[in-house]
Amino acid sequence: MKRIGLFGGTFNPIHLGHIQVIQEVKKEFGLDKIFIIPSALPPHKEPDGLVDAGDRIEMIRLSFSNHPDFAVSDVELKRSGPSYTIDTVRHFKSILPEDAEIFLIMGLDAFLEIDTWKSYKDLFLLIPFIVMSRSSAGQGATVFGRKPFEDYLKSRISGGYKLSASQSSYVHKIKQPVFVFNVTPIDISSTKIRKLIKNGITIKSLVPEIVEAFIRSKGLYL
Ligand code: ATP
Repeated sequence: MKRIGLFGGTFNPIHLGHIQVIQEVKKEFGLDKIFIIPSALPPHKEPDGLVDAGDRIEMIRLSFSNHPDFAVSDVELKRSGPSYTIDTVRHFKSILPEDAEIFLIMGLDAFLEIDTWKSYKDLFLLIPFIVMSRSSAGQGATVFGRKPFEDYLKSRISGGYKLSASQSSYVHKIKQPVFVFNVTPIDISSTKIRKLIKNGITIKSLVPEIVEAFIRSKGLYL
């Protein structure tokens, strides 16, 4: 039986934060494969500064070219209109073997907006979540924000979620479990990278070298 992770985002551009945390999740949860899934039109983000999907997907490919356990999926780019995670999860459930265990991976910042997503209640019936801690600017080393997370989960998703005995997940009688995981705090975001490029500041330590060269050669985000 295979354990598969789905990791979606705008990846505008992909950065070392994404790459580091996703490798930590893979190891911790014993995942065999992770699909990185760039979204077409992000329903929750200003399209401002969003570069061509072909360029975003190419930067992901370059980042994971030596990592056979990570695959880029263009499923959201092939669909017309905005990308909805519910459609993507249904897609993977339909193409992967029935006994595959599939997990939806995201950062805490993304999770805390999930009640604005299309059919989000169905998502909790369909697939277990892995929610990673995310440090924000100036916060330094943060641990997982348990309190805001738990308040949100119980008030917006379902009061039926209870902390498991291992404390590593929240479990529910009907809904899928939500795992929480403290990743190494890395204060990198795509927004920060886009700003640095606009201001003519190097992004060398924030993205893989090959991605930095790609961005420079194509003049992206200027
Ligand atoms: P932006 O700054 O444009 O909002 P972003 O850096 O948050 O972009 P996304 O493509 O939106 O990148 O992120 C995809 C997923 O990766 C989200 O679930 C997000 O929470 C997670 N993520 C991004 N950066 C980090 C990080 N440094 N640590 C942990 N999770 C992260």
